[in-house]
Amino acid sequence: MHHLLKKIVAGIAPLFPLAVLRRNPSFPPILPFYHVVSSIPLPYINSYKVRTPEVFEAELDYLLQHFEPVTLDELLEHPGNGKMHLSFDDGLKECYTIIAPILKRKGIPATFFISPDFVDNRAMFHRFKRAILESKGVLLKGERVFTHDMNNELDELAAANGIDFTQYKPYMTMQQLKSLQNDGFLIGAHSLNHPEMWLLSEEEQYRQVAQSMQWVVDNFVPKIKAFSFPFTDDGVEMSVFKRLQSEGVVDVTFGTAGLKYDTLHHHYQRIPVEIANNRSIKKTIHFEFLYYHLRELWSKNIVER
Ligand SMILES: [Zn+2]
Repeated sequence: MHHLLKKIVAGIAPLFPLAVLRRNPSFPPILPFYHVVSSIPLPYINSYKVRTPEVFEAELDYLLQHFEPVTLDELLEHPGNGKMHLSFDDGLKECYTIIAPILKRKGIPATFFISPDFVDNRAMFHRFKRAILESKGVLLKGERVFTHDMNNELDELAAANGIDFTQYKPYMTMQQLKSLQNDGFLIGAHSLNHPEMWLLSEEEQYRQVAQSMQWVVDNFVPKIKAFSFPFTDDGVEMSVFKRLQSEGVVDVTFGTAGLKYDTLHHHYQRIPVEIANNRSIKKTIHFEFLYYHLRELWSKNIVER
């Protein structure tokens, strides 16, 4: 039912002018996020809709027409309606080869959230392994759920079918990350190896955040210690948030729940753009604002903890 309602809202949202939808001055800033942009299909990605460079640029132009792009520190200082900060998760190589050049040309600041274990292609996200096995016909699409703790099974399936995961090089190198930082982009952390956080113990959840953040601090000394939760922040224990903030492990953290306020200080929700059914950026933004209003009607606009 919830899903159907969202579909209906998405269908009618573009009919409302954006100026009407966003009239309330107390809106949170918009924080759209992507993973990758590519003109060729990527065999290891099949769970979201990859944008071509042309579509990505058109989406940025749309966003620039309506929102002011700011750096993360500007946003945290003045988190008002009308501001936007873009971010990119997972540290894929196209961030360096395609996305950053476009952002630079358009003068858009951004944050890149990376998982230390994957830098320099030393390891690969388990969802990418599953997608490769699906693309080779070893598994049917969506046939089985593999979680992070099942990496061994995926590796064995690949070996048994003569598939070498190391021939795929999806990620940025350390040098490329340094270059992004030199260009003024912020590097943030995204867990050590992208596990399903909700399946982990409190201690493990804390370790995934703290150790990946420390790795970023050691290698990049970022102006702001920013962390984005892999998949979702659902299932992350309140005690973990509290400990991370009280110990100063992070300055700011991000979830993926759309346009919403969060009851937690220094925790923001971002808008996933690459929704599988190929929703346009206009539809996505209109949907987020209209859905915000509807939630307000039954006062669910704030993520409760
Ligand atoms: Zn991710």
